[in-house]
Amino acid sequence: MSLHWKIIIGMIFGIIFGLLANNFGLVLFTQNWIKPFGVIFVNLLKLIAVPLVFASLVKGISSLSNTSKISVIGFKTIIFYILSTVIAVTIGLILVNVIQPGNAFSEIAKNDLKKSYSSEIVEKINSAEDVQGGGPLQFLVDIVPSNIIYSATENKNMLQIIFFAIIFSISMIMLPKENVKYVKGFFDGINDIILMIVDLIMKVSPYGVFALLSGLVVDFGGSSNIFIALGMYSLTVVIGLLIMILVFYPTILYLFTDIKYLQFFKGISPAQMLAFSTSSSAATLPVTMERCEQELGVSKQISSFVLPLGATINMDGTSLYQAVAAVFIAQAFGYDLNFSDQLTIILTATLASIGSAAVPGAGMVMLVIVLSSVGINPQGIALIFAVDRILDMLRTVVNVSGDATIAKLVDAYND
Ligand code: ASP
Repeated sequence: MSLHWKIIIGMIFGIIFGLLANNFGLVLFTQNWIKPFGVIFVNLLKLIAVPLVFASLVKGISSLSNTSKISVIGFKTIIFYILSTVIAVTIGLILVNVIQPGNAFSEIAKNDLKKSYSSEIVEKINSAEDVQGGGPLQFLVDIVPSNIIYSATENKNMLQIIFFAIIFSISMIMLPKENVKYVKGFFDGINDIILMIVDLIMKVSPYGVFALLSGLVVDFGGSSNIFIALGMYSLTVVIGLLIMILVFYPTILYLFTDIKYLQFFKGISPAQMLAFSTSSSAATLPVTMERCEQELGVSKQISSFVLPLGATINMDGTSLYQAVAAVFIAQAFGYDLNFSDQLTIILTATLASIGSAAVPGAGMVMLVIVLSSVGINPQGIALIFAVDRILDMLRTVVNVSGDATIAKLVDAYND
């Protein structure tokens, strides 16, 4: 049986088990004896992210013949990433303005939600203020580490690791081959070992997603009612995400690459399922890289650069969700957003998604910044808090699919 079927079965059993556990008093059992295996599984994935990104970037970039190629690839990648994000935000804005989910939202539901989530909201707003603290160039300062060993101790410093790996590999290209042949051999070996570890982790992934999803269902308990109360909003986000997955990415692949969408979908689906189960593009990264290289035919040079960067900065699903959520909250509060407010949302949601960390719930923290940019009270996130986790799972699938699509696109235009 192929891997994606095994993972689907693991997911379905996980959800069924979680629902049964809720009904038959097995909640504690699931939390104590099953959920930890989900945590271990995610830790395993995160464990290899730093060495994988470093070794594969060094292997990928140092095999390029000259340094000018790197800037060409880098330039194309950034342009494609920004374009796809702007398109995603625009799709979200059009949908939320047409469907107007906020206007259908009852006063009672609004007040209930505001009351229930007031304490969690303070936490999110504080995190957003931390992010906003620095000056306009703070993001550039944050990319250049002062100590690489320190950077490597936190997965969230991925851009710093990418930065160091790039200057390391560029210097390797600039030196005579003879001087660096052992270093090259070393990183080639590390890279192969890490890929073998990814293979091993994927073997246990059906059990991993089982544990993750049963734990999640148990944690959520009976909150499905709230999902329905926020139905129009959730539906608007889901329609937007489906447009990305079923229309936008297939069109890009059809027009600019030679891969059939079904083949792309089959190849990338295990990564999509992990994205859904873990809600984290960073945790999914090792699998995204492996699938792109081995199933989609993306060259190592491209995937090693485009995918780690994409996991960190390219979040089409997150940006689309931020646009829908911002306008939904504005509608629910009765704010009138004019055309220039909507343009501001395009700009800030694009930047906010770039700034969102690739971990669960990060998109919502950055949503606070989008709301402030158009003068909406950030407390408004209380309205959407209840359904955020499930939407997070779905938008992470789009984030990962977007990275893979752009990797394929850059690969197709790399001669
Ligand atoms: N969970 C998302 C990711 O890792 C980020 C977010 O939208 O919260 O891609």
